[in-house]
Formats: sequence, C-alpha cells, structure tokens
Amino acid sequence: SPSRSSVIIIGAGISGLSAAKVLAENGIEDVVILEASDRIGGRIRKENFVGVSVELGAGWIAGVGGKESNPVWELANQSGLRTCFSDYSNARYNIYDRSGKIFPSGVAADSYKKAVDSAIMKLRSLEANHVGEVIEPPCLPKTPIELAIDFILHDFEMAEVEPISTYVDFGEREFLVADERGYEYLLYKMAEDFLFTSEGKVLDTRLKLNKVVREIQHSRNGVIVKTEDGCVYEANYVVLSASIGVLQSDLISFRPPLPRWKTEAIEKCDVMVYTKIFLKFPYKFWPCGPEKEFFIYAHERRGYYTFWQHMENAYPGSNILVVTLTNGESKRVEAQSDEETLKEAMEVLRDMFGPNIPNATDILVPRWWNNRFQRGSYSNYPIISNNQVVHDIKAPVGRIFFTGEHTSERFNGYVHGGYLSGEYKSS
Ligand code: FAD
Repeated sequence: SPSRSSVIIIGAGISGLSAAKVLAENGIEDVVILEASDRIGGRIRKENFVGVSVELGAGWIAGVGGKESNPVWELANQSGLRTCFSDYSNARYNIYDRSGKIFPSGVAADSYKKAVDSAIMKLRSLEANHVGEVIEPPCLPKTPIELAIDFILHDFEMAEVEPISTYVDFGEREFLVADERGYEYLLYKMAEDFLFTSEGKVLDTRLKLNKVVREIQHSRNGVIVKTEDGCVYEANYVVLSASIGVLQSDLISFRPPLPRWKTEAIEKCDVMVYTKIFLKFPYKFWPCGPEKEFFIYAHERRGYYTFWQHMENAYPGSNILVVTLTNGESKRVEAQSDEETLKEAMEVLRDMFGPNIPNATDILVPRWWNNRFQRGSYSNYPIISNNQVVHDIKAPVGRIFFTGEHTSERFNGYVHGGYLSGEYKSS
C-alpha cells in the first residue's frame, strides 16, 4: 500500500505553494504536491518570445501604494523583481477609429463619462431588480467608440464603477513585471524557503510534476488520490487548488461525489477568458511618447482587437505589441490558426496606422480556454452575488480543502488573491 502523508496539495501555482509554505511553517513537512503540468507557476507563466520574456498569464502586480501592503508587492521587492509603473487610464485618449484618426480628447472624455454613468445606472438597476424593484436599465452602447469604452470599462477598469477591494486595501497603482526571469521567479523564491532548490530549479521529491489528478476518494479516515498515470497517493487531508474552470470540468471526479451545495456554487461562478496576443515587428511604427503605452481600436464589433499595448517601456527596442482579447473573442481566436489571427490583427493595425506598416514576423497566442488544466483565465463572480457563493466554493468538504484565487472573498482573480487564499486566512 502507498505510504501515507499528512497532506496532498493538488496544483503548484501560487496558492498551492503558499499553502505548502504555511504548512511547513507550522511543522507539517510530509506533504506531497501533485502538479499536472511540467512546471510550477500555473497561471503565472513566462515564455521566451523571440528573445524577450513575455508573461502569458499574470503580468501586473495590482494594488500598490495604499494603506496596506500587498503581499505580492512585498515578495517582488524582496526578490528584486524588475517592474515598471503602468497606467492604462490614459488609453482613453488614444482611441483610433477605422480610418486611423484619433478621437479628439473632448469626445473621448465625454463618451467615457457617459459610459461610466451608464455602467453605474446598470449596476443600480441590477441591485434594484435584486430586491424586487424595477428601474429602467440605461441604453446599450452602439457606436464603435461607445463599444470600445464599454469593453475597456467592463473588461479592465471596473474600479471606476464600483470599489474594488484590491485598490481600496492596497492602493491604486499597478506595476508591470518586466524581468527576464519572469513573474514566476517569485514562486521559485517562495519555494526556496521550504523546498529543496538549486540554481532556479525545485529538486525536492515532494514536488511531483506531470501528475494529473483524476480522482479523489474521501472518507472519515482519509483521502486517496489517483493520477492519470496510475499512481495512488494517500493522505490525511487534501488541499485542492485547481482553477474554477477545472472544477467545472470533469477532469477530477470525487468519490463520494461533492454535495449539491458545493457543485451548485461552483457552477455559479463565471470563468473569464483573457488572452494576450504578442506580435513581433521588424521596427516600430506606433507612437512611443509619454502616455502612449496603451491604445484602443474602435470597431463596430465589441472587443474586436480593442485593447493594445506596446512593450517599449518594459523592454526598449523589443518591437513587440500586445493585444488583449477576452471571452467570446478569446475562444474564437483559440479555435483558429495563428496565421488567421495574425491576418486579422494586421488588418486592424493597417486601419490604425496605414497600409505601409510592416507585417509582424512572429505571433504568440496563449490558449487558456483550451488548456484542460486551466479552462479559462480567472474567476469572475456575478456583480450582484451574495458572499454565500464564494463562501461555499471555499468551504471544505470532509477532508478536502479548497484554495486558489477563486476562493478569495476580497481578491479573487488576482495573484495576491491566490497567495492569500493559500495561507487559508480570511482573505
Ligand atoms: P493556478 O495558477 O492555476 O494553479 C493551479 C495549478 O493546478 C496549476 O498549475 C494547474 O496546472 C494545476 N492543476 C489543475 N488541475 C490539476 C489536476 N487535475 N491535477 C494536478 N494539478 C492540476 N493576476 C494579477 O494579479 N495580475 C494580472 O495582471 C493578471 N493577469 C492575468 C492574465 C491572464 C492571461 C491570466 C490567465 C491570469 C491573470 N491573473 C492576473 C490572475 C492570476 O494569474 C491568478 O489569479 C493566479 O495566478 C491563480 O493562482 P492559483 O494558484 O489560484 O491557480
């Protein structure tokens, strides 16, 4: 029979590693960490893209400069991670129409104000509906600029509409990670404290990579965890850090099955898909002055290659542009070939910058939605949801404990949410 450990941790992303760290600090060292992929980090992931370290997952440390200190910002400072200040609030003054004209700042500011007001009204009408009143919802965005701003507001800057705990607690500043070693370097630094590491690699035998958990048997006496390659692990407890998308999928089966209150809560949480597409060019043809880091493309289709960023602040001379797609557009692009996506992106760029710009020489399209160990990018609780949903998603079932960004009541969707959820303090 397999040897029995105290705790099995499923997943070696920030929350799983932070759980392991807290256990080690409390003297529980006979843990086994089972990770489905061939690396630690999960949704914190850098890749070498034609010589530059790009972040396919988390890119920003959000929430800096406030009354409380963001633990991820502290980790970054302790590790000497290179970051740069980043402010996308100026993006609204760099909105291009399809003929390459930038909307005058007055028009952009007016549209922006209208969109914020209407988002606030929408929120009020949802709240009213929730308690049985009826308030007329605001009219929907229609023109390309309205659609573009609606996309920016709802898919990036919700903070202007309702207070976001991250900014309230930790401050409103955001820093972009710009380090060759990647955002994931923080995880290696964390792991050094409680796992055996050498030269940037975790060599500890308690960390087991390429172990895809497919079944969790649980009873009053303990847990038995089975992996796809036929291995069996026994423990007193299991800490499950797989994403909300994975919990909604059939990757892991539970014996006995999870109770109804649990599965219903899991179904209620939306999965956000967020895709950063990287494009490499032979030279720059976009403006790089102050407040030009971000720019917006206004198209009649909402979310169609709307949000752009150049990487010159992070990596001068890299000649890389990043365009962010979300949800439906992310899924559409994941399903098509990268050549097709490159063609679409180039048409959009030619609308903005004219027919004579050079073609991108390389493209990188992450596929978080089709990754069976992720099934999306991060959790997104419905705006009007009571805390009961996240509470139920977090609540243990017998000897199974749940962690991960989606179990964080205040900071879901963020790296610090994952980190704090792993500590299993109230977060
Ligand atoms: P994960 O990192 O997903 O860790 C879970 C681990 O479990 C994974 O390694 C996975 O492989 C493993 N696993 C899954 N199923 C199994 C199984 N069956 N058996 C074994 N192992 C399994 N946050 C920010 O703060 N700032 C940002 O700018 C930001 N941008 C983002 C952009 C993108 C594109 C994405 C995808 C995320 C972004 N986030 C951002 C969110 C942030 O990355 C996550 O909140 C955080 O990394 C989640 O950590 P976690 O430990 O909860 O989950």
